[in-house]
Amino acid sequence: MHEIPPEDRQLTLVVAAYDEAEALPALWPRLRAALDAAEREGLRARLLCVDDGSRDGTWALLQGYAREDARVALLRLSRNFGKEAALTAGLDHVECGAALVLDADGQDPPELLPQFVRKWREGFDDVRGVRVARAGEGWLKRASAHLFYRLIGRLSATPVPRDTGDFRLLSPRALAALRQLRERQRFMKGLFGWIGFNAAEIPYQRGARVGGRSKFGFWRLWNFALQGITSFSTAPLRLATYVGLMTSLLAFGFSAWVVVRALLWGDRVAGWPSLMAVILLLGGVQLMALGMIGEYLGRLYEESKQRPLYLVDVWRPADGVSSAHR
Ligand code: UDP
Ligand code: MG
Repeated sequence: MHEIPPEDRQLTLVVAAYDEAEALPALWPRLRAALDAAEREGLRARLLCVDDGSRDGTWALLQGYAREDARVALLRLSRNFGKEAALTAGLDHVECGAALVLDADGQDPPELLPQFVRKWREGFDDVRGVRVARAGEGWLKRASAHLFYRLIGRLSATPVPRDTGDFRLLSPRALAALRQLRERQRFMKGLFGWIGFNAAEIPYQRGARVGGRSKFGFWRLWNFALQGITSFSTAPLRLATYVGLMTSLLAFGFSAWVVVRALLWGDRVAGWPSLMAVILLLGGVQLMALGMIGEYLGRLYEESKQRPLYLVDVWRPADGVSSAHR
């Protein structure tokens, strides 16, 4: 058993919420119970809710929870920055101890908190919830998620564990490590894998949302997948090189054959179909390779602007006093 130093005996539940007014009321009693469970484990317990620019009643609900319970800290971003930025903002505002990240829609059961804490006590730094079942999600989402995890698992140089979402506990040093990664193209699942340290897994049944709708439609998931791949792998660029190499080899063979044929049998003007086929194929391959380069270049451009990852509108620490903007 690894003894947690007294100053680190704090656990903050970090919840990013965007338009979750329909789900939060069902989750709130469960979060409170989780805070009590953390206290029974001998930890100071905090709940840090990040309002990612919600336009429904989310912020009002959260303020109510903070009035009800002094363990609740609130952070409101200046607009919707997306889940990855909201999570980053939340993790940046955890003052000490470990952090447990969970979704605001009840899909990550807070009841598992004691299991996460047990693994932290055993000396693990990155305790991951691994979904063994996904209820309430269509076959298309499950199939594409399955495919995506396998693809990124093969492409990425650092591990991106399968079927592992953002539901996880980070020990103080894992949290400190994660905070050093300030890239704009944030693919949290990859960043969590990048930091390394001792990882443990906790299998869980991923239930359906307790209310409201998923914020990740097809296009958002597709862009998320592109972001994951481009920020953790340059394999697409290498693929362009190899496709180019192969086409050149084929082209070389074909031109040799065209010359030999012309020398042996003379040059009959013909071959319009083959000419078209070659031009179209090469045009397509070139545009695809350019597009791949563009994907990376665009991200490099975003990165080079060095803008902050998020802007804070309101920060209200757990002691209950509202403070000015950071
Ligand atoms: N979320 C967020 N900002 C966004 C989109 C989502 O903070 O721009 C939060 C959302 O409130 C939820 C979590 O991210 O707590 C996961 O979102 P969702 O449940 O829609 O994703 P899914 O579980 O369907 O993949
Ligand atoms: Mg969800």
